[in-house]
Amino acid sequence: MRYYSTNRQAPMVGLREAVVKGLAPDRGLYMPEKIKKLPDTFLKSMPNLTPAEIACVVADAFFGEDIEAEALRTIVSETLNFDIPIVSVDHAIFSLELFHGPTLAFKDVGARFMARMLAYFIRQQGLDDINVLVATSGDTGSAVANGFLGVEGIHVYVLYPSGKVSAIQESQFTTLGENITAIEVDGAFDDCQALVKAAFMDAELTSHLRLTSANSINVARFLPQAFYYFLAYAQLAILGRTDRLVLCVPSGNFGNLTAGLFAKKMGLPVNRFVAANNRNDVFLEYLNTGHYKPRPSVQTIANAMDVGDPSNFARILDLYSHDHQAIWTEIKGYRYSDETIRSAIRTCYEETGYLLDPHGACGYLALKEELQDGETGLFLETAHPAKFKDTVEEAVNADHPLDAQFSLPIPERLQAFMQRTKQSVAMENSFEAFKAYLMSPRK
Ligand SMILES: *Cc1c(COP(=O)(O)O)cnc(C)c1O
Repeated sequence: MRYYSTNRQAPMVGLREAVVKGLAPDRGLYMPEKIKKLPDTFLKSMPNLTPAEIACVVADAFFGEDIEAEALRTIVSETLNFDIPIVSVDHAIFSLELFHGPTLAFKDVGARFMARMLAYFIRQQGLDDINVLVATSGDTGSAVANGFLGVEGIHVYVLYPSGKVSAIQESQFTTLGENITAIEVDGAFDDCQALVKAAFMDAELTSHLRLTSANSINVARFLPQAFYYFLAYAQLAILGRTDRLVLCVPSGNFGNLTAGLFAKKMGLPVNRFVAANNRNDVFLEYLNTGHYKPRPSVQTIANAMDVGDPSNFARILDLYSHDHQAIWTEIKGYRYSDETIRSAIRTCYEETGYLLDPHGACGYLALKEELQDGETGLFLETAHPAKFKDTVEEAVNADHPLDAQFSLPIPERLQAFMQRTKQSVAMENSFEAFKAYLMSPRK
């Protein structure tokens, strides 16, 4: 399979180059040349297949030409070594729980897949010494760091905004050591993302070091996210709930939503998509006005969606040939304030017993507004609520008496991270400083 750049100024490349480069040299995002339609017989047979079998068919459509079948099967089954269940929240709404992996957030899927694919290329082609740069607003860093931990020939640098990620999130990528370095930037997430992008554009740096990105711009992270749309559909089919299906995605950089759009192009029957945002609502503004005006992100309690210039927007435009009307027809948008998110966490818990995290809460709220009679809604529950323990407890306890306070237990996997020692490199928000650090020999 060949990959072209959304900016169309760079040459097409093969899979390995698209994965190792991350971003195209013209600053565009790579897109697969073809999106293969999967046969109806496959879609109908999904309820009888295992998750790994379903995901293998989806993976084969993208990567089958470039990776040996047996190796691809292994990559897929190692990636999906945890459950991705759907859970009924109320009569019309289901949650797709993507938080049963090692770092309790959906990014485990893409990160685990990408690490294993890069390791495959290193083995096959004798590549060595790959440096992965990743900017994180919280969950990307932990998923990538844990996905790549101990993978030979790869060093990972996680850039994160100092003081703007939760203690639990921070502990998941600053305590690992080995081939993982956490860089604590004096700035916002967008600054971290800008530093990473600038590094890829710097000729001197890229001639010294082999750099690749593990943000959702990377096709090896982004395309595997299409797997779980099929897994969700298969589970809904068993319940007879696939007619008039609306999928809702809490969105930041829009990688997850874009993977859903790919799944639909592959033939998955979805009526429409909903993008749920916090106050960072440039995409909603685009839907409403046809104009895309990136701006600095603002901090919210759903901080993994604090993105002011979503990188995958370029892919959505490309997928629909820049046709605003077509995009508006396919994707609806909603935005929520912190206050509304908190009250949704409380009322959903009181009314249904289901505990949302702040990101999933946006998805749940948006479906509540968007669904029409007879439709089934599924939102992506992108992280475990315990990753946002303080926010979630505060929301639920708002009208609890003092002697009946709700306390959210921290899963053991998270506790283990928090007991380890933080190691990070402090970095001013300056490309010169970042570059000098990367150019100096690794300590
Ligand atoms: C990354 C993340 C999102 C946003 O996903 P995108 O693919 O960037 O739109 C939403 N929720 C959580 C918990 C995340 O970690």
